[in-house]
Amino acid sequence: ACVKAGLYTSSDQVLLLSPDNVHTLLVNSSAAMVVEFYASWCGHCIAFSPVYKKLARDIKEWKPAVNLAALDCAAEENRKICIDYKIRGYPTVKFFHAYSKADAVGQEFKGVSRDVRDLRHKIIDKLETHSEPWPPACPPLEPTSQAEIDHFFETNSVHHLALIFEDFSSYIGREVTLDLLQFENIAVRRVLKTEDALVTKLGVTEFPSCYLYYPGGNFTKLHVQIEARTFYALALQKLPGVVRSGRPPAVPGDDLKNSTDESWKPFNSSRVYMADLESTLYYSLYVEVAAHTVISGEALTALKKYISVLSKHFPGRPVVMNLLKSVNSWLQSQTADQISYDALEDILDNTAQMPNAALPDDTKWVGCQGSQPHLRRYPCGLWTLFHVLTVQAKNSTASDPLEVLDAMKRYIHIFFGCRQCAEHFGNMVDSLVEVKTLSSAILWLWAKHNRVNNRIAGALSEDPQFPKIQWPSPEMCSACHTVTDNGEHRWNTEEVLAFLLTYFSSSRILTDYLE
Ligand code: FAD
Repeated sequence: ACVKAGLYTSSDQVLLLSPDNVHTLLVNSSAAMVVEFYASWCGHCIAFSPVYKKLARDIKEWKPAVNLAALDCAAEENRKICIDYKIRGYPTVKFFHAYSKADAVGQEFKGVSRDVRDLRHKIIDKLETHSEPWPPACPPLEPTSQAEIDHFFETNSVHHLALIFEDFSSYIGREVTLDLLQFENIAVRRVLKTEDALVTKLGVTEFPSCYLYYPGGNFTKLHVQIEARTFYALALQKLPGVVRSGRPPAVPGDDLKNSTDESWKPFNSSRVYMADLESTLYYSLYVEVAAHTVISGEALTALKKYISVLSKHFPGRPVVMNLLKSVNSWLQSQTADQISYDALEDILDNTAQMPNAALPDDTKWVGCQGSQPHLRRYPCGLWTLFHVLTVQAKNSTASDPLEVLDAMKRYIHIFFGCRQCAEHFGNMVDSLVEVKTLSSAILWLWAKHNRVNNRIAGALSEDPQFPKIQWPSPEMCSACHTVTDNGEHRWNTEEVLAFLLTYFSSSRILTDYLE
């Protein structure tokens, strides 16, 4: 379950230290550790916590080499630990070497910066000067040379060697090396601009730039939209044969047939399918809501709001809309403080009286198909449904910018069967106060969905055929991606909004496989 401790929760990608785990996590760990010692009442710490959370999301892929943790020194039970670690001011951020001894007090990062990039670079500096034993999962970070490359494939069996050519002062090569740390069949090395032999051999003129190098000395330039860390990392993760460690290699759609009980329906992975939206309605109303025999109080309010939003904004076929509207008018006319699910089901099934009103009588996943029966499907459909609804609310110039998100929040809180997901989502909805317009509602949901994607990338619930990415990828929307002056990835939210408005618009929803 989601744990809250001081300024952090377990969804923040930050290990929450306590007297019970501090020694297990800091002593003799195979990864280096960065620990923030803070006091939950301290203003600087409160201001620093979003930076630290952002850093944790940013270097999530580095975890096997260096992990982030935090400890609230204001909590009574933690005071002694903070004294033992010689903490005098808050926040104090310390670096603990891999395999630290029980009496190690860590090395302090002087003058804690509020800049994620600066902190990331400081962590790399610490890793580079790490004493023996080096964290075993951490790849070599020092620059490579022609001599090393000549013999590289004699001792390494990876498919791809990516060489990042850069200035001495650039961190991109080392960052991308760590970003790819959890991926197999690829190695990344930095090459300094001054490594004349390689620079000449490959004809490199741009710094930074990235080349793929193969046995026998063949090479090709990696083409990216912008020569920057995020673009290299994304492009390298997608190379053929590159997979997250421990995962089977991706196979094209056709080979998926046998792993599910149904036959695989070929689909376009950059489109929304009505079959998924209708399947989601079916599953939500006939399975999830059905788990509540009596619906009252908060649950009844949640159901009424959900159905009301669907009847207004679901871009469905006439039969489906007729049904949603009839359910809505029945539900809104219920004045008792509870209803039974049986009564609701009668209305859902009441096609005898309304022959032109019906929901599908089963699920048929298309764009939300999973490579195995337990992957994707309903949660994929639920995200898609609410993205579509936020976009539809904007198109129909709904009066309340929060209407859809409020209905979603309540639905997830009461009915969503994945209780852990509901709890994590519940932690994020505090920021709904920022939503003032229909457009910001669309962007809010997009940003939170990406937050979830970041948190669960690589988790067991991830379908290896559909890796969690920060969405949309540069291939789907290049204008959505840009960089700041110092090369940090930045979303162009105006472009993202335009993209979402098109991507989830009712006129683009495909109706294949409906019958
Ligand atoms: P999904 O993440 O379900 O996305 C569906 C489709 O939406 C994608 O195929 C893509 O086309 C599109 N998409 C992807 N990202 C975005 C975006 N940022 N904006 C707009 N569209 C996008 N699983 C857990 O393991 N832990 C959790 O805590 C958790 N919390 C969840 C909370 C909610 C509210 C929901 C609905 C689901 C949650 N899940 C969680 C499930 C998880 O997010 C995925 O839905 C599930 O793993 C299926 O993933 P998928 O690959 O089908 O893509």
